[in-house]
Amino acid sequence: MKDSKYLTIDEVLNKGSGNVHLRGWVYRERKSNKFVFIVLRDESNIIQCVVSKEKNPELFEEAKKLTIESSIKVSGELKKDERAPTGYEISPVSDLEIIQIAEPFPITAEQSPELLYDNRHLWLRSRKLNAVLKVRHTVVGAIHEFFRSRGYYEFDAPIFQPIQSEGGSTLFEVKYFDDKVYLSQSWQLYAESAVFSLGKIYNMGPTFRAEKSKTSRHLAEFWMAEMEAAWMKLDEVTEVAKDEIRFIIQEVLKHNRKELEILKRDSNLLEYYVKEEYPTIKYTEALDILNNEYQMHVPWGKDLRTIEEAKISEFFKVPVVVTHYPTKIMGFYKPPSNDNPEEALCFDMLAPEGGLEIIGGSERSLLVDDMIKRLEADGEDPLRYAWYFDLRRYGSVPHSGYGLGVERVIQWICGLENIKDAIPFPRTMIRKTP
Ligand code: ATP
Ligand code: MG
Repeated sequence: MKDSKYLTIDEVLNKGSGNVHLRGWVYRERKSNKFVFIVLRDESNIIQCVVSKEKNPELFEEAKKLTIESSIKVSGELKKDERAPTGYEISPVSDLEIIQIAEPFPITAEQSPELLYDNRHLWLRSRKLNAVLKVRHTVVGAIHEFFRSRGYYEFDAPIFQPIQSEGGSTLFEVKYFDDKVYLSQSWQLYAESAVFSLGKIYNMGPTFRAEKSKTSRHLAEFWMAEMEAAWMKLDEVTEVAKDEIRFIIQEVLKHNRKELEILKRDSNLLEYYVKEEYPTIKYTEALDILNNEYQMHVPWGKDLRTIEEAKISEFFKVPVVVTHYPTKIMGFYKPPSNDNPEEALCFDMLAPEGGLEIIGGSERSLLVDDMIKRLEADGEDPLRYAWYFDLRRYGSVPHSGYGLGVERVIQWICGLENIKDAIPFPRTMIRKTP
């Protein structure tokens, strides 16, 4: 049963006046001869609470014991005060119950990022991570809502998989009784079998890639939101991706204004991304832009590097879809175009402000012989993909899909420098604790 006396700080701020009861943790404290100033923190916000020696000498002595992160219950009068961090304060505090005096908190103001990662279990309480986690909640909810409201079924694939989809170099091998399997790099190959039953499907789940390079945009364990749809071609699937991104931003703007402010993220920019059209260009056109506008000479056939993606995004200033990458650098399931087999029917979406790749997708190849050749060239045994090729034997139809990096989208929307701050407990090559 709810202990109805207590309100959250946000509920109290909305109330605006009166005698109120709060509970939470000491976010900051400052002691003078006459007052103890406590900034109280709970899940919703922070508020200053003032204990006066003159008005309540006994409470003043109690309050002097408080340390950062001590847990307390506070009652008192809510008053407007422009100088207080959230415009109001509890003054004077009329009752203070100490639940626990915290030991000296290992995190102080100036700290190295690694120490914050070592203390992630405690740092989750920071205003920054509290805000990011709330945005994450919105993003995840928005993705479910986006697909469900458009008639997509949620479909789950196995995490233990005997085959790879994204290249052997990032596979996590797992002992599987007397055999071995891999952790899922993608839901896609299994999803392709399900569209012949359910038509349009989506999923959001943990995805594993043994990324050996240290970048600010790769995790070893991340969440990918994927979709797959029968009958869909490249021109249609790219539009679904644009709509999804627009919807996610809209939802964040609807629910997370306060969090964006805490993260110092310019919400005007996000509003701009909701209103503007997102261009679709071909890889070859991207090379032209790099060449003509930035004097960067990327030879046709090379994948775009981070710096080149950054320039493309700088040029367009909104999310941009790049299609038709060179077939030879794409996964075996991305089909060559009929017009020019050197180009694959695939796309990436790059986010503005840095060119972060947030989505990768394609039509799926229907050409079994071509796929077998490409798998063999990668050192794979095509026989293990026999079930996958069955899908091209029994009523094959065009179909397409894409994967959206949930943490990449959060990183971009929140304006985070490192993707590690977009997930509660990041996993990378050099970070697996706590
Ligand atoms: P990148 O070139 O950045 O490594 P990718 O081409 O390997 O990406 P895809 O296989 O297309 O990526 O995966 C779909 C989406 O999943 C990407 O667009 C990205 O948003 C996200 N993603 C891929 N790898 C990672 C990772 N290691 N950590 C976080 N997100 C990732
Ligand atoms: Mg990759």
